[in-house]
Amino acid sequence: MTYQPLNEVKAVLLARKLGYFTDTETITCREIGDGNLNLVFHITGTDKSIIIKQALPYAKVVGESWPLSLKRATIESQALQIQAKYVPHLVPQVYYHDEQLAVTVMEDLSHLTIARTGFIEGETYPLLSEHIGEFLAKTLFYTSDFGMDTQRKRVLDGNFINPDLCKITEDLVFTDPFADINTNAFEVALRPQVEELWGNEELRLQVAQTKYKFLTCKEALLHGDLHTGSIFASKTETKVIDPEFATYGPMGFDMGQFFANLLLNAISRPYHERTILFEHIEKTWFVFVRIFTDLWKKEGKEAYTTSEKWLENILQSILNDTVLFAGCEVIRRTIGLAHVADLDGIEDEVSKIRAKQHALRCGSALLLSKFPVHISVFKNVLIQTTD
Ligand code: ADP
Ligand code: MG
Ligand code: MG
Ligand code: MG
Repeated sequence: MTYQPLNEVKAVLLARKLGYFTDTETITCREIGDGNLNLVFHITGTDKSIIIKQALPYAKVVGESWPLSLKRATIESQALQIQAKYVPHLVPQVYYHDEQLAVTVMEDLSHLTIARTGFIEGETYPLLSEHIGEFLAKTLFYTSDFGMDTQRKRVLDGNFINPDLCKITEDLVFTDPFADINTNAFEVALRPQVEELWGNEELRLQVAQTKYKFLTCKEALLHGDLHTGSIFASKTETKVIDPEFATYGPMGFDMGQFFANLLLNAISRPYHERTILFEHIEKTWFVFVRIFTDLWKKEGKEAYTTSEKWLENILQSILNDTVLFAGCEVIRRTIGLAHVADLDGIEDEVSKIRAKQHALRCGSALLLSKFPVHISVFKNVLIQTTD
């Protein structure tokens, strides 16, 4: 079938045609996408429900002037299936994919809440860090040269070039927020602090090097967009969705984005309600180290994975990178094109500006950390930059 964007009626017809529902069954369909790039249909019949996600050929936020390859739908469905090999309990099951229609049919996770929304409402998610630590350790280890045959890894790298979506990350995470470029969006009151940030040569050098690492370092298959809006959670379950930005890159990238979004939520809260976020950051790291170390020792494929000293160096460099990527993410989510509800949703205008000023100090301090870092750097920087 040639590509056409679905609407609710067409999504129902497709679901019936694919055999998920009978011709006579009553089914309801709602477009529930809250993202910027895709349509998401929630379809319910008498005894089951499914999700149909379809890529649009342009970015919804900007309109048809910003074309985007439909191939990202295939990238997303392939990434979900690779992740399912290593952490099947932590991703939605893919039932079907159509490359021409840029459509993926997947498991309905509506019984869970998007973690960003839950954190804003004060949820705690006791198993989140255990699960995300495992997700990161397994998906990154098994797709790296440590856990995968090097020839297969080079081929897999080639299947996830994903140039359009990588370009979005390059521009919106690493370039535009650090210069006076018209995609940026921030309150007039932030201008003096933002200009100071743009004028900080030491900080810009760190960002340049961090961006270059994203461009050139092909360590493992990344999720590529692991913010708290890409995580469904409950007290007992965690599911990571939306890997359309998947590409080979530095292992610290996913963890950095995750930690940055936890920090942004912490910044949005009163001082005494932040502990849970620091606990999630530290626990994610410790679980990651524990599982990654275990895999290195038991399933290391690379000849030199016999070296414990090398493992120590690798873990330290992942943590250093994580801090740098987190610094970029905190800043870009504050003044770049795509903001977070944690900060934008603060109702009192004065408190919102203060929180954003705090975020900018925090992001800058992370980028200017003294390396090598310890995991406590996240908590320390957040506290030190509180006014
Ligand atoms: P985008 O790439 O446009 O951000 P997402 O995959 O993040 O799309 O999905 C957008 C929204 O659609 C999610 O925030 C969630 O509310 C809903 N959604 C996506 N996938 C599922 C799913 N498998 N089950 C239930 N809801 C989903
Ligand atoms: Mg999304
Ligand atoms: Mg979303
Ligand atoms: Mg997405």
